[in-house]
Amino acid sequence: MTEVVDSGVDEVRGRLPPLESRADLEAVLGQVADGISVQDRNGDIVYANDAAARLVGFENASEFLATPVAEVVGRFEMFDDAGHPFPVERLPGRLALTGVASEQVICYRIRETGVRRWSVVRATPVADDDGSIRFAVSAFQDITPQKQTEERLRVLAEASNLLSSLDYHATLEKIPKLVVPALAEACSVWYAEHGTLRRLSSYTEDPDKQAAFDGIPTEFSLDADADTLMVELFKAGEPVLMEDVSAEMLRTAARNDEEVAAVDRLATRSAIVVPLVARGRSFGLLNLISFVPGHFRSEDVALAKELTDRVALALDRALLFRASEEARERLEYLARAGQDLNATLDYEDTLSALGALVVPRLATWAGFYLVENGEVRRMFGVHTDDAQRELVEETARRHPFDLTNTEQPIPGALFAGRSSLFEHIDDESLAAAANDPEHYDALKRLGFRTAMVVPLQSSGRVIGAMTLVRTEGPNYIEADLRVAEDLGTRAGVAIENARNFARAKARARAAQALEFIRDGVCLVDAEGLVRLWNPAAEGITGLNADRATGRPANDVVPGLVEVQVGDRPETRPVDLDGRELWLSISAAEFPEGTVYAFRDVTDERALDRLKNDFVSTISHELRTPLAAIYGAAVTVRRGDPGVREHEDALLGVIAAEAERLARTIDAVLSVSRLETGTLHVTIESCDPVELLDGVVAAARVHLPSNLTLERPEEAEVPRVAADPDKVRQVLGNLVDNAVKYSPDGGVIRVGVERAGRNVRFLIRDEGLGIPQGERDRVFEKFYRLDPNLTRGVGGTGLGLYICRELAERMDGRVTVESNGARGSTFVVELPVA
Ligand code: ADP
Repeated sequence: MTEVVDSGVDEVRGRLPPLESRADLEAVLGQVADGISVQDRNGDIVYANDAAARLVGFENASEFLATPVAEVVGRFEMFDDAGHPFPVERLPGRLALTGVASEQVICYRIRETGVRRWSVVRATPVADDDGSIRFAVSAFQDITPQKQTEERLRVLAEASNLLSSLDYHATLEKIPKLVVPALAEACSVWYAEHGTLRRLSSYTEDPDKQAAFDGIPTEFSLDADADTLMVELFKAGEPVLMEDVSAEMLRTAARNDEEVAAVDRLATRSAIVVPLVARGRSFGLLNLISFVPGHFRSEDVALAKELTDRVALALDRALLFRASEEARERLEYLARAGQDLNATLDYEDTLSALGALVVPRLATWAGFYLVENGEVRRMFGVHTDDAQRELVEETARRHPFDLTNTEQPIPGALFAGRSSLFEHIDDESLAAAANDPEHYDALKRLGFRTAMVVPLQSSGRVIGAMTLVRTEGPNYIEADLRVAEDLGTRAGVAIENARNFARAKARARAAQALEFIRDGVCLVDAEGLVRLWNPAAEGITGLNADRATGRPANDVVPGLVEVQVGDRPETRPVDLDGRELWLSISAAEFPEGTVYAFRDVTDERALDRLKNDFVSTISHELRTPLAAIYGAAVTVRRGDPGVREHEDALLGVIAAEAERLARTIDAVLSVSRLETGTLHVTIESCDPVELLDGVVAAARVHLPSNLTLERPEEAEVPRVAADPDKVRQVLGNLVDNAVKYSPDGGVIRVGVERAGRNVRFLIRDEGLGIPQGERDRVFEKFYRLDPNLTRGVGGTGLGLYICRELAERMDGRVTVESNGARGSTFVVELPVA
């Protein structure tokens, strides 16, 4: 058949035997359903009827016979029963020319349309009288309908076989290959999910058409692209037979010139579109395509329906399996996430681990925010591409989101614990998220396509937020959001743990320092309860930590919480169980409350007060004798009549007051020498009785008339090791005090006695006395009893201080004893020489 020569019908006739019946014969053969062709011994076709011509894609015999052989050959391909290319040499016509009659099943496929027809080809040789072969006569019996039925049954059987595979991708890829070429010239499978109809696979045997397939749209939004043919067909939910598809119909789906060109190149001319339905739900489409108008018949629709029912079942099973696999993977992923996140106790490491978990598995970019001490901190982000990461960071730095607007996703997550899902980021949603047009441009450049924002939370408290973004790959769906939320909680707990650990560590260190610090430290929480009470605080207040902690701060240290937070400490009196303490308190705020540090300044404070008192006392002490001296001197100088006889007394006043002045100044000087270490004590053996007698004699000179000074005899007293001058100073001072503080008169009794290894001087008066609680304090520098207790008797508060200091420097001591209801007894003890 391939060796057809360019010969006209008349010429063929001319070479045929001169039969009257030839025209009749041709008429007869033209009516036969089977194709008939005749080849001469050269293999050229010398006759063919219309049926034979149609088999290889011609309208009729004359068109066939008029076509040049090369063109005829190019029109079709031949295949054997098994689908292998059929070699020309094995054509029954060829074999007949060698004298062998044979029969073959041959499939003719018309290249232009892809239409295939099957024939049983039988050829018989026609011999001359001499036995040589003159012609080969071939008869073609069209068995296309039977073959098609057979093939369809095979396709259906194979479709059922798909049920055994759970591999979703493999199942999808097999479907079009199963259908092409048995049922259609091209096929595609579509799957609808999350509002998008997506082409999963497509196939045609022609590489050119396959390339066209790749150029046409593979995705339609069920909402936005509702008016495109594919979405309409999906929504119809019923098998549709399109006997004549026009280019215009197809172009509705194309979005640009390139897609229009691809649609035109694919050139679908008829189609069957059948919904994939499983468990009552339509979830996709099977699209059978032919490049010839009117290729499909209604029985093809029934078959396609039968096929898709089986395919849908297989696909649904594969998808279910995939869903369960994904769920298992998700669980495994989350379990691993838990491990990874808890592997460290450093919260920045925890964030890094989170970044590694989500990028690239879940996102192209992940950004983190943390709330620290009530402030939001933008942390580092992770991107699959380092250069892109810089760009995102830069954008975030230059265009920070307004964190006060909880309508926005990030503050919404941070302050309202809300997660947000942006399945598909279009220009409109980008504009809504942008602060200004410049920000919008920057965001657009980042190419974010789908995004989610979830809070990071720990025990219901939001501690941060995570943004996940994809620039490619599938849109985020609810299931992804659930995974991200779960991660957010796991990460939140891990971060909180890490932070608590860091805090505990810092606290442990601080607590250790607090153990040793000399200042009292008291930590008061937001509720006003004492949370920490260090040992120094115990020491200062006498309250131990057990009693202080957990109680309201103001009950523990009254007035504590009134101390203002600031740089300067406040000094204030504090009443602790009736004991007044002066505390210098400073307060500082910290996230969980206020920390108070305090020092006991009671002593300093008292000293200060004493010093102040001293200044006014000393002025008084100096001015009083000066005034007396001045008065007396002026009187004497004026020499008024009558003054003469008082002159002696006046001069006596001057001398006595001058001496008092000198004593005061001596006292001050003594103190200064004591303190600067320039007061020297020279110890020698001296007679205590002699020393005491000297002091008594001197005192008697100025003794007020209402006082008597008794000096009883004593037993033998040993000599003492002391500085005689200093002993005189001490005893003189004590006797002076006894006089001074006996304003109502009475008896002053002085004596000396041996007391073991000491000699003891006693100076006893019946004066004002010293209250029990003050007996030690009167020896303090500047300390004077309350003026109410001393009835205004003047003094510097230095005398007893000097006495004690001097006695101690001579290895002795001075004490005061109670004298019953009235008066006091001062005792000076000095070592026996
Ligand atoms: P002053 O110069 O005030 O007398 P002192 O150091 O000698 O200073 O005494 C300290 C305080 O002790 C006095 O102010 C007084 O109140 C009290 N005092 C000292 N001696 C006596 C005493 N004999 N009787 C009562 N009070 C005394």
